[in-house]
Amino acid sequence: MTQVSNFASLQLAQPLLRAIAEAGYTDPTPVQAQAIPLVLQGGDLLAAAQTGTGKTAGFTLPILQRLSEKPVDARPGQPRCLILTPTRELAAQVEESVQTYGKYLPHKSMVMFGGVGMVPQVQQLKKRVDILVATPGRLLDHCGQKTLDLSRVEILVLDEADRMLDMGFIRDIRRILAMLPAQRQNLMFSATFSEEIRELADGLLHNPGQVEVARRNAASELVQQTVHLVAKDRKRDLLSHLIRSHKWQQVLVFTRTKHGANRLAEKLEKDGIPAAAIHGNKSQGARTRALSQFKAGTVPVLVATDIAARGLDIEELPHVVNFELPNIPEDYVHRIGRTGRAGSSGAAVSLVDDEEMQMLAGIEKLLKRSIDRVAVEGFEAPAVRPAHHTPNPAARNEHRRPPREQRERGGNRQQPASKGAERHHRHNPAHQAAAPARERHPAPARDNRSAPAREPQSPMSEAARHQAQPQPALFSPAPVRRNGNR
Ligand code: AMP
Repeated sequence: MTQVSNFASLQLAQPLLRAIAEAGYTDPTPVQAQAIPLVLQGGDLLAAAQTGTGKTAGFTLPILQRLSEKPVDARPGQPRCLILTPTRELAAQVEESVQTYGKYLPHKSMVMFGGVGMVPQVQQLKKRVDILVATPGRLLDHCGQKTLDLSRVEILVLDEADRMLDMGFIRDIRRILAMLPAQRQNLMFSATFSEEIRELADGLLHNPGQVEVARRNAASELVQQTVHLVAKDRKRDLLSHLIRSHKWQQVLVFTRTKHGANRLAEKLEKDGIPAAAIHGNKSQGARTRALSQFKAGTVPVLVATDIAARGLDIEELPHVVNFELPNIPEDYVHRIGRTGRAGSSGAAVSLVDDEEMQMLAGIEKLLKRSIDRVAVEGFEAPAVRPAHHTPNPAARNEHRRPPREQRERGGNRQQPASKGAERHHRHNPAHQAAAPARERHPAPARDNRSAPAREPQSPMSEAARHQAQPQPALFSPAPVRRNGNR
């Protein structure tokens, strides 16, 4: 598909172009270039795109334009556009985008999620609401109390549909769909396409236009990935050691469980490292507070579960740590996508114990490459202690990007140590076959946000480059299956 070079050529109206210019965007991202014309035409859309691709503007801009092309009398509590998201954080971020892009248009937006009082939301619904961004549970509460009327919805967006299904929202979604007028435009965004997602798309979308942009595992080219093999009971000490010794200022740490997130945050605090945990059991107030402290830099470590972290838009996050690997390989891709976003580079570190080797193999299979193992002195896991090291005290950085051709081959070669203490090593049970000679390829240190490893560049020119590379197909070769067999 031809790449559109600027927003004006997408036929967007002046008030939108003005807001886009003020947001500092020059070129549309690939998903925007593809989705905006399709949505403007009024058809349904099925898009394989995830947070970080610019998808929010990809649907928000044409929706705002369509609503202004057909002005109708505003009525309280009767939105014309409904955007459903899986998490509160994502809902808040999407509604913020609606406000940003719609600042020169008269439309009113509202965000609605649980964990906060109903009353202010009821008050807001007594006024004009054109675009409602909501999580499913609270939306249904309002419908039940008749404080919200969905009978005038013209456009429906299901954002991060795969995650909504993962989180068990399918029945809620079906109940909501039943309350919408039959005649409407439907847009569905999903990072992955399981059988369940396809079924949902089949029932929801009519002759959808399809858009597919680079998966995050392609974008992860920008992320320096490292594995530290370590005994399970040494992980917490290793994390404290890494944060302290590298002076990490902003690091998002993933755990598998809410309990694990709490315990880890407590342990870090005990070690003198300010940390906050964010997960579904926390009140909305606590989650918002933790996130803003983290964003402001007052709390350097945020410990999160996958679900809580979903959709967090923290720009140019320098470090992500997988304290535990996720059960689902795709979640690894989502996690490391928190860094290296919108063209900036980042580092993702995984602490892997011997019980997680299988998961690591699954992740590497998905990525179609191996991840460098780096041993940290004093924390090597006995079972995976390297056969031999190649010490190189002169080497200063452990974060080294292998040459592109080798990354593509998935090569993994013993590396000299960083700071004299961390050693890449060759002993790698999962990848013994792949160890071609590799040149040293030092990269600048990336311990500090203010010291970017690369020249500043237009975020989306990088995205466009990814787009140009062949991507694994998300959509099956056959068009999306339609009706008939259910
Ligand atoms: P999203 O995938 O919608 O969460 O967007 C990811 C990030 O990209 C957000 O911080 C947006 O502000 C930013 N963004 C969206 N569109 C563009 C664009 N055309 N150029 C530069 N940045 C963009």
